[in-house]
Order: sequence, then structure tokens, then C-alpha cells
Amino acid sequence: MPLTPFNIPTAHHLIGGTWTPANATIPVSDPSTGSPLTTIGRGTQADIDAAVTAAKNALDGAWGAMTALDRGRILTRIGKAVLTHVDALSELESRDVGKPLTQAHADAVALARYFEFYGGAADKITGETIPYQAGYTVYTLREPHGVTGHIIPWNYPMQIIGRSVGAALAMGNACVLKPAEDACLTAMAFGQIAIDAGLPAGALNIVTGLGAEAGVALSSHHEIAHMSFTGSVSTGEVIQAAAAKNVIPVTLELGGKSPQLVFDDADLDQALPFLVNAGIQNAGQTCSASSRILVQRGVYKKVCDRMSEAYRALKVGPATDDLNVGPLISAGQKAIVMSFLAKGADLTIAAQGQILTDAAGHYVPPTLFSDVPPDHPLAQDEIFGPVQVLIPFKDEAEALRIANSTKFGLVASVWTMDGGRQMRLAKALKSGQVFINNYGAGGGVELPFGGVGKSGHGREKGFEALYGFSTLKTVAAWHG
Ligand code: ADP
Repeated sequence: MPLTPFNIPTAHHLIGGTWTPANATIPVSDPSTGSPLTTIGRGTQADIDAAVTAAKNALDGAWGAMTALDRGRILTRIGKAVLTHVDALSELESRDVGKPLTQAHADAVALARYFEFYGGAADKITGETIPYQAGYTVYTLREPHGVTGHIIPWNYPMQIIGRSVGAALAMGNACVLKPAEDACLTAMAFGQIAIDAGLPAGALNIVTGLGAEAGVALSSHHEIAHMSFTGSVSTGEVIQAAAAKNVIPVTLELGGKSPQLVFDDADLDQALPFLVNAGIQNAGQTCSASSRILVQRGVYKKVCDRMSEAYRALKVGPATDDLNVGPLISAGQKAIVMSFLAKGADLTIAAQGQILTDAAGHYVPPTLFSDVPPDHPLAQDEIFGPVQVLIPFKDEAEALRIANSTKFGLVASVWTMDGGRQMRLAKALKSGQVFINNYGAGGGVELPFGGVGKSGHGREKGFEALYGFSTLKTVAAWHG
């Protein structure tokens, strides 16, 4: 399979609608085998400067002059074009991220769906009129910020481009995207698809490279008007500090330790696939992974037995074999996850999945721990690997206390047939999203998504994102 489909040259940046050769390169390896895969451009301050200038030119030119209707039409066309390339995008993502093909396919379809959604939404955001003093007419205008910066991680490049770049373009911003150095091939492919679908030059610019170089150059650039970041808490702190210096708004999505609360009256047949999949999807490298399963004592043993059975059946192998779980993204990520497994040496392992390959990829066994104390590091810290902990609880009050006991708050779910309990917990859980009798890692395209606490702030997805990617102007006209 060519690694540069869509005729994209390796090690180039997309600046002002043209693929520009990079001055230096970074090697990229295949997480499933550890072997070299390709090289990408190592972007510099000068590349970021050029990308920001191209974005400004787009705002001063055809893109900035376009009506919301026409922007929406282009976004919708991009969504349709992505759908025609779903298989190629899935294969590329699978090789680059180590994601099983079926999961990569779901990401490509979601990317298309974001552009369909935001294409339709572009001309539906309105201002309001405000009753004021006699002789005045007052109204508000929703306007783009200008040049928006987008720094994204390696775990879901396509989905995060969809939710972040899709919403920003819908509101008429011009974007500079810095994908993660570990996985940026589908971002580049997407850039070409967008151009082919008619996105004006400079509306989307892509500079690949290292966080410490291209990432810092972008997040601290004084002509960026809004910064959107998805990644680790420590990098989020740096991004927010840089945004503070330039006094610009920032959206941060920084991961979590999302719990599922299973009560004695839960429908376990319905719950079981969600309990397991939410932990092992994308090898647990998901911001909204559910890594804590809190279970009421009356069904604790049953849930532990059934989840253990499901874990023992999990198959781990190369991404293109499309098993349940692929490799982790890198040797570094594997070392982090293995260090957490070592920290769990004092705990009980209820069950593990099976690694079915001898390949030199970054494989770890999916691992389910039982009877984990709620304050144990495995129950408090984000692991970003296929590891879940089972924690028993006595009653609703204890479940809530445990669920709210971490520094994160991204997603939670409640499994119970008691309607009052559903409503009480939906209010009391400290979380950006609460699911009742289901669990959607991150939820759908339509559902506002983001965290509280160290999970970040600001909301992406759904209509809500369009408010974040725009600014409000109040116009007060005195006419007597
Ligand atoms: P992860 O641990 O998931 O790799 P990071 O937060 O390190 O998460 O990386 C997410 C994205 O942030 C990547 O695109 C990376 O290149 C970028 N990045 C890392 N460090 C910085 C930084 N200091 N400034 C700006 N971007 C950064």
C-alpha cells in the first residue's frame, strides 16, 4: 500500500494550498511491527509563520468573503469526499496509529459525519436582538475569531480534526493544524481531500513536527486568535500559559479517568459490552476511555466473572489483522503502561487478554484488576492503555463519592433501572458528559463534549462548539 495516497509527497507541509517541502524530517515507525514506515516534515517557526500568514491571506481573500451558506456547501462536499475515501483513510490510519482496521474505519466515517454536520450548521448560527433603551436597536453578531490554532494528539487524528477543524471552518475561521509527530498521515491525506473538494487555499494549513518546535511555535504565535488543544494535562498547562500570554481563548481536552457505575438492578446483558469496550477501544488510548468500573456489591462477583470471561477472549495483534486490540502507539507509551502494571503488583489481576503475535510491535496484554482501592494510583491516574479497574461499592452515596474522587471529569455512565437514581446521579456526577444505560466514548458528533477539572474546559462537538469557535459582537444603534 502506498504510504502517500492522494499523491501527497512525504515530508511536506500544506501551506496556502500548496505542499511545501520540509527542511528537516522525522522518521515514523509502524506501531504493529516497530519497522520504519515513512518520514514526515519537521516543522519550524518559519513554517508556522508561513502557515499563519497563509491563513490570514485566506481571511482577507476568498474564504473570508464567503457567505455562511457557501462555506457550509464546501464543508458538506468535503464530508462526501471523505466518504469516498474511507477505505484508504482507514488503512492509512491503521498502519500509522496501530489501530485495528474496524476502529480506524469508524474514525474515517466520523470525520465525514463531522463535515456533514458542520456543513449543515454553518448558516444556522444566528445572533439576537436585545430590548434596550428608547431610540435604540441592539443586536449581536457571531463572528469568527480569525486564525485558529489546532494541536491534536495521535490517538484519534481523524475524529479530532473533524470536531475541531470542522467547527472552526464552519464559523469562518482559517486554521493552522499541527498533528502529532507519531501519527499525522491521515491529517495530510485529509488536507488534500479538502483542497480537492474546493476548500480555498489557506483556509486549512497543516504543519507537521515536534511539540517542542512546531507545537510551541503555533501555540505561542501572537497572530493566533484561538487555540484548541487535545492531549496530556502537562502539555495543556503549557498551552494555556502560552494562550494567557497572548490573551486568547483556549479549548483544552485533556483526558480523564471516566467511571461507569453499575447498580444491582442494572441490565447486565446490555451493560457488559459497553463496560469492556469502553476500556479497550483503541487499546485504551482514548481520552474518554472508561478505566474505572464501579460495581454495587450485590452484582459485583457476577460482573467481575463476566468481564473476566470477556477479557480472556480478547485478542491482541497487528492493526491490519483487525483483532480486538492493536499495539500501543510507541515504545514510550508501552513503557508507561507497563510501569502502571508494575504499580499494580499488589493488586489482584482478574483476567488478561492474549497477545497473538511475535511481531516487535508495542503490545501489552489487556488487563482487568479487581477489588482495587479507590485511592490506588491505578484508580486515580490516567493510564492510556488497555487497563481497567473494578471497584466495589455499597450504595449510591459511596458510588458517587468514589466516582467524583479523581482530579478528572470527562465522561461517566450510570447503569440502573431506577429513574430517580438516574436523574440524581446525572446531576451530581462531576463530568462533562453523563450517559444513562449506555456509554459512548466521547459521544456522537452531535453531543457537546469536554471536561471539568483536569479534563479541561471548553466544549467541542455539536452546535455548542460553534459558539466556542466564534466571538460575539454587540451592535447598539441609536436612531432616536
Ligand atoms: P501525548 O502524551 O498524548 O503524546 P502530548 O500532550 O504530549 O500528548 O501531545 C499532544 C500534541 O501536543 C502533539 O501534537 C504534540 O506534538 C503537541 N505538543 C507536545 N508538547 C507541546 C508543547 N510544549 N507545546 C505545543 N504542543 C506540544
